[in-house]
Amino acid sequence: MKCPDCNSDDGRVMSTRQGPIKVTRLRCCNACGRRWNTIEVDAQNLARMESAVEAVRTFTNLSRELENVASAHG
Ligand SMILES: [Zn+2]
Repeated sequence: MKCPDCNSDDGRVMSTRQGPIKVTRLRCCNACGRRWNTIEVDAQNLARMESAVEAVRTFTNLSRELENVASAHG
């Protein structure tokens, strides 16, 4: 994986944390020393998360619309 700072491919994984739905890896760039995290998820879990986010977004828009209707009618 390329370093977000210097774009070098020369990096290593320092630690890996296995969670119930995701794997978090702490990476370190050998070229510039930058450390960053990457998160790895199952594609199926990602799809579920995306549809959950979409549902929350729809709900938020809907309640905003209802608020607007309510305030318009004073
Ligand atoms: Zn780097």
